[in-house]
Amino acid sequence: MNSSEIRQKFLDFFASKKHHIVPSAPIVVKDDPTLMFTNAGMNQFKDYFLGNKPAPWPRVANTQKCLRVSGKHNDLEEVGYDTYHHTMFEMLGNWSFGDYFKKEALPWAWELLTDVYNLPKERMYVSVFGGDEKDGLPADEDAFKIWKKILGGEDRILFGSKKDNFWEMGDTGPCGPCSEIHIDLRSEEEVAKTPGKELVNNDHPQVVEIWNNVFMEFNRLADGSLVKLPAQHVDTGMGFERLCMAVQGKQSNYDTDVFQPMIQFVAEQAGVKYEDNEKTDIAIRVLSDHIRAIAFAIADGQLPSNNKAGYVIRRILRRAVRYAFTFLNFKKPFLYQMVPVLADQLAHIFPELKAQQAFVQRVIEEEELAFLRTLENGLKRLDSLNETFKGNQNRIDGKTAFELYDTFGFPADLTALIAKENGFSVDEEGFEIEMQAQKNRSRNAAQTEQGDWILVGDDVPTEFMGYDAISTEARIVKYRQV
Ligand code: ATP
Ligand code: MG
Ligand code: MG
Ligand code: MG
Repeated sequence: MNSSEIRQKFLDFFASKKHHIVPSAPIVVKDDPTLMFTNAGMNQFKDYFLGNKPAPWPRVANTQKCLRVSGKHNDLEEVGYDTYHHTMFEMLGNWSFGDYFKKEALPWAWELLTDVYNLPKERMYVSVFGGDEKDGLPADEDAFKIWKKILGGEDRILFGSKKDNFWEMGDTGPCGPCSEIHIDLRSEEEVAKTPGKELVNNDHPQVVEIWNNVFMEFNRLADGSLVKLPAQHVDTGMGFERLCMAVQGKQSNYDTDVFQPMIQFVAEQAGVKYEDNEKTDIAIRVLSDHIRAIAFAIADGQLPSNNKAGYVIRRILRRAVRYAFTFLNFKKPFLYQMVPVLADQLAHIFPELKAQQAFVQRVIEEEELAFLRTLENGLKRLDSLNETFKGNQNRIDGKTAFELYDTFGFPADLTALIAKENGFSVDEEGFEIEMQAQKNRSRNAAQTEQGDWILVGDDVPTEFMGYDAISTEARIVKYRQV
């Protein structure tokens, strides 16, 4: 089954269970002060759960573009090194707004995984919330009973802690237990090494969480107490790329047809073979991942810039440029050439990238050019100081990290990454002190901070309407105030 079929089967399955299929919300969030990027399928439905708005349909399903590089969920450090965390990924989800609940959601999830996708039952296990006495939270006996019936026993049901199996929107508001489905993708030989041992997904890189079913049944009040919600909701999220890995019998998301076209393209352009060398492999995976985050963020209205969400995108982009430069020997802009491969591949499901391809490419190429102008000198500067760092407890001092940021455009996390590769750490506190000192200097000089791009109405709720001009010289972005 190819990835398009896998996605479509998910949507068809829930349509057959009377779900309304809705489009993905943009990956860029413009009207929520608590969130810069969509990090879960439920974000766009928040108001229905909070009761601020009536839900237009009792059941919906979709695939949602998500980004987890900042805030509560930040998976950036894992990307390229593990096989299943991405910056940008698709989250497949189904929701019930005061309609069905656990006894429908869990059997449906199982039916889809085992009957439609034919995943092996004996390789899956589930977790349910085990309760938290301190917080007065009961174990999820209902979910346990439902799973016991579905699985025909309790062997593969694990009780989880509040951290993994209880979901809360914030300090107050809707919350409830969740039930995760994990799959063991280890080879037969690997499994034989640990007979009878029930693995949880932190124990082995090939044992992976694929689906989370959240059941909102409580409301946390301001005094910390919990009351039952008058209407109960279901909120689920399944990692699409992980599902593809499981269905296609691969051991890495990067080996599925979601990533292979890009992996092959990068390898070919770099004149290397994928799976020949650990270092170039990581770089190829990082590039194949990061371009998705960069391209979709730009297509959805977030240009790289010097602050806030724009700097998140710039940081990802510079990180990718450095991997390309150092490990794949791309000394000229390359990332922008990856955009058409991605746009073509996803045109049928996310046409927004194809529609703005030329513009997105130009923005990326300009960013690459700007960073490449200083990258080589910055790397040389770092190299030249190696002996000093060694004599200095293997630590890059705050002043140097700040110089790299200020003069050479190295985001702090990029310096930290390069430092780590060389066995050094970075004095982050020292960096912050230097940063603060510079801000004070700028303030004293009465300079206002200027991003590279002019965003109309940056601080007012706006709705992204598309780029006005295809020319990056114009740098005009069209937002409608809402
Ligand atoms: P993990 O424990 O693997 O980090 P999670 O518990 O943080 O996942 P959830 O918040 O429960 O993830 O999100 C629902 C689903 O989205 C997960 O079960 C997983 O399949 C998928 N998912 C989460 N984070 C990522 C990511 N960075 N890249 C790809 N898929 C992801
Ligand atoms: Mg996570
Ligand atoms: Mg988890
Ligand atoms: Mg989870």
